[in-house]
Amino acid sequence: MTPFERAGRVMPGGVNSPVRAFLAVGGEPPFAVSGSGGIVTLEDGREVIDFIASWGALLFGHAYPPIVEAVQRAAADGTSFGIPTIAEVELAEKIVEMTPSVDVVRMVNSGTEATASAVRLARAATGRPRVVKFAGSYHGHADPFLVAAGSGLATFGVPSSPGVPDGTVADTLIAEHNDLELVENHLTGGDVAAVIVEPVAGNMGCIPPADGFLAGLRRLCDEHGTLLIFDEVMTGFRVAADSAQGRYGITPDLTTLGKVVAGGTAAAIYGGRESLMRMIAPDGPVYQAGTLAGNPVATAAGLASLTAIQQQPSLYERFDEAGAKIADRLLSTMSDVGLPGVVNRVGGMIGVFLGAERATTWNDVADLDGDLYARFFHAALDRGVLLPPSPFETWFLMEAHLDGLLDRALVALEEAIREAVR
Ligand SMILES: *Cc1c(COP(=O)(O)O)cnc(C)c1O
Repeated sequence: MTPFERAGRVMPGGVNSPVRAFLAVGGEPPFAVSGSGGIVTLEDGREVIDFIASWGALLFGHAYPPIVEAVQRAAADGTSFGIPTIAEVELAEKIVEMTPSVDVVRMVNSGTEATASAVRLARAATGRPRVVKFAGSYHGHADPFLVAAGSGLATFGVPSSPGVPDGTVADTLIAEHNDLELVENHLTGGDVAAVIVEPVAGNMGCIPPADGFLAGLRRLCDEHGTLLIFDEVMTGFRVAADSAQGRYGITPDLTTLGKVVAGGTAAAIYGGRESLMRMIAPDGPVYQAGTLAGNPVATAAGLASLTAIQQQPSLYERFDEAGAKIADRLLSTMSDVGLPGVVNRVGGMIGVFLGAERATTWNDVADLDGDLYARFFHAALDRGVLLPPSPFETWFLMEAHLDGLLDRALVALEEAIREAVR
């Protein structure tokens, strides 16, 4: 019995999160044993260069020594108390210092909790029921977000999961990335509490905002009394030290952060301007709580991660240079073999769309050739490079990639493209 077969007997799909089952690329997922820097050692002994990076949570690399040491120290002093600790205050202060729009934060345990809580707060603050989200974007698995547009342009969403009540579906309106007109149509009803957006879309591959898109959302929200939520669970501290809101110079009303903010442990936050955040209990009436929220282990990892970012101001430029190199090399290989393609990149996020003519909305990429990506994925894995197991996932750069590993990976990826089209 393989580990995956053993896992499948006691876990749905053998995994704790669906994408890990490798359904989009086929075959059994490899099991990780350990990681160091940009390398993961697999259960069968192979060592692979990893571009999953815990789905973006790892900015520096696996087992990054400052984070490991901080976590070990914290754990030795007790993993959870249920009364406050000073480390929580230090992390909150650091997030507020680094994130332009955020004055006050609340720590939770996952990005899913952060977005669900932010929407609850937006509904409470506006007294309105509805939310606008964008097709192809992911905001965790809370009910209001498990709605996708059938055609991508339908006025009302259809549930993408059974178990989501019809009323919830009716309150989630779907728009298209980089299309302001549809957003405006949704907002004119005057019943939308919030527009929630990934400022750089990262859950349909990486799709950056078109010029003026984020500013347009800001303007439309202001005109219609709707709050703008930036879901920066992926982009936070990954596209810039001041996150996407700093990189693009747009001020959202509420922000969610996860992944990098917890340095590869389980935590996330939501935050925003003071007047809104004071509505959260116990300052205000909007209830939200957590047994393990702000626990010492996650807090220590987050503090170590953000401290390391502040010590390396050139990191994001180095990511941008690496992204340019990846685009250059992969696009020229694609052109050699007569394959169209797009490579999008923002900081430590890379979107590789084999066979695409353009990649600016979900509709552009939804019908890409999944079999081609699967062949490419396996050809890369055979050559020691672990990519996200789906054509609709962002590749994540880590600092550990930047010294030499990236060049090794690119040689393998060029060969993998040639093999995939053969
Ligand atoms: C990963 C992600 C989430 C969900 O975070 P979890 O910690 O997996 O619950 C929400 N929004 C975005 C943009 C994400 O990338």
